[in-house]
Amino acid sequence: MPARELGPLPGRASRSGRPLLTAAARAPSSCGLLLIGVFLLLFGLGACDAPGTERGISYQVPDQPEIATGYTEKPGWAASEFAVAAANPLATDAGYQIVQAGGSAVDAAIAVQMVLTLVEPQSSGIGGGAFLMHWDGSEVTAYNGREKAPSSANEELFLDEAGEPLPFGEAVRSGLSVGVPGTVAMLAEAHERHGVLDWSQLFEPATTLAEKGFRISPRLHGLLEAYEDEGLRDDDIARTLYYDEEGTPHPVGHILRNPALAQVLRQIAEEGPVAFYHGAVAEAIVDRVRNHPERPGSMVVEDLHTYLDQDFRVEPICSPWRSFEVCGFPPPSSGHLAIAQMLGILEEVDSPTPALEEGIPDADWLHAYMEAARLAFADRNHYVADPAYVDPPGDSWETLLDADYLRGRAALIGEGSMGEAQPGNPGQATAVALGTHPGQPDRGTSHVSIVDRQGNAVSMTTTIESGFGNRTMTDGGTGAPGGFHLNNELTDFSLTPIDDEGRPIANRVEPGKRPRSSMAPTLVLDREAGEFVASLGSPGGAGIIHYTAKALVGMLAWGLNAQEAIDLPNFANYNGPSVLESGRFPAQVIEALEARGHEVTESELTSGLQAIQRTPDGGLFGGADPRREGIVMGQ
Ligand code: GLU
Repeated sequence: MPARELGPLPGRASRSGRPLLTAAARAPSSCGLLLIGVFLLLFGLGACDAPGTERGISYQVPDQPEIATGYTEKPGWAASEFAVAAANPLATDAGYQIVQAGGSAVDAAIAVQMVLTLVEPQSSGIGGGAFLMHWDGSEVTAYNGREKAPSSANEELFLDEAGEPLPFGEAVRSGLSVGVPGTVAMLAEAHERHGVLDWSQLFEPATTLAEKGFRISPRLHGLLEAYEDEGLRDDDIARTLYYDEEGTPHPVGHILRNPALAQVLRQIAEEGPVAFYHGAVAEAIVDRVRNHPERPGSMVVEDLHTYLDQDFRVEPICSPWRSFEVCGFPPPSSGHLAIAQMLGILEEVDSPTPALEEGIPDADWLHAYMEAARLAFADRNHYVADPAYVDPPGDSWETLLDADYLRGRAALIGEGSMGEAQPGNPGQATAVALGTHPGQPDRGTSHVSIVDRQGNAVSMTTTIESGFGNRTMTDGGTGAPGGFHLNNELTDFSLTPIDDEGRPIANRVEPGKRPRSSMAPTLVLDREAGEFVASLGSPGGAGIIHYTAKALVGMLAWGLNAQEAIDLPNFANYNGPSVLESGRFPAQVIEALEARGHEVTESELTSGLQAIQRTPDGGLFGGADPRREGIVMGQ
């Protein structure tokens, strides 16, 4: 599966200190958010009467009635000109207002991200990292904002005095786990290339909401409860921000203000990313990392300075599948490689029977899927790591997607389950005998899909890794209440540098290295016409790979619309038990899988898919996951 041909990446100058303001804003928004579908009416995001400002953007705080919690049916949203899909209605609305004001998909993504930092602080933010894919009508570009290990980190980062890996939770709740944040710098570069509105305007929604306050959503409230004894309430800033004097989380609907975040965002808005990577904010990040009460980290401000001065563009991997080209993120993400491997393997063994029975994937297809997943995860756990440090097998990641290689892998799938799959030997040229990455939990993260009026598309997955990252916050040196969360992305490295047989693990910690990810922001193109077909992705740790694959198959193989595809029950295999979404599969499917030798378990599998697809009539249709709080808005 060859990579999509891209021209050479032009060089770029250092960004430090450079003014960021680019093109002037287009016409300001006139009154009117066109609310699409009953669901939006339920949310009541209907603020109108936007007064103009001389800066072109006139952000209106929408009404914020209570958001339903749990599994909430969503209608799917049709639009004709543009659409914005994000995990929180306030974030979606911010992106909507930016496009309304003439902004591009990247402009909207930046505004969405800044609002997510405030309103979905458990999942992503300026203290974390992100991957962004961009389609400009002729070319896909990938922007890599993944965090990096500090320059002083080494493979013993997460080992205790006896040389044993720390318990995972202790590694998370430490200063050791904090990677040098990448989101702000990466977004600034994407804005330089694809921005239309001034950078400073994109921060208006988030700074306004941070100052005026927003209503705590049921999901945020639930997670404040779930994480109160997981270190979150021990952090002085988080405790003061999220909890009352008795240490009880503020209730759903409580108006939460975050003055420190508002100040930090204003600085970044006015000065550009240099305000984050140099000066008081950078010093405050380093201070929190180095003064962690239990396990301090070793990050220094030079790590932040260095992060800013790089080219964030990388070549995406575009893989042919049926009549489509599925474009995804290259390593350090394992997401696209695993998805493309599974899709390729399934083409060889696809069940001849219809794959959907009354809206549920049938057992034959699920068997093939679970086996393809085992094979893909075996390769993922063996080979995939930061390509700046680890060579791909056969000197190219494409060896993992080679048609003959995948045919050989598919031939390993039989009537009964193969049990634990072993990695293959793609490229036949593995010089180093690598060890197998142990399974490690991860959760959190947020996905954003946007198509603007010009047809540019963004697919961005963004994370601080665990819920509320490493559970500590910084006020960015403002001295004001509140702040933003520090990530724990470095626990996406293997905590142990070697496996049981003493072989080095590709994804071990090394100085300046990026941890392996599962994030899979995806853009699908029509191969013949070269036109946009869909933008999608999900949070969910390694489950991201399965959720995104499910939505791809649902939309593009089974003919479902984006909402129907997202609604399909989730299923996963990480080269172990076959995991089904609790209560969504009939007993006969479970029994049929067990009869083929699968160990079947049920679990919540809380995906957070967002997707926007082009419809046959040239319009757009968006879906948001009923398992989380996302919505789509458009016009
Ligand atoms: N940190 C994870 C990754 O980059 C994502 C975490 C999650 O989605 O739960 O793969």
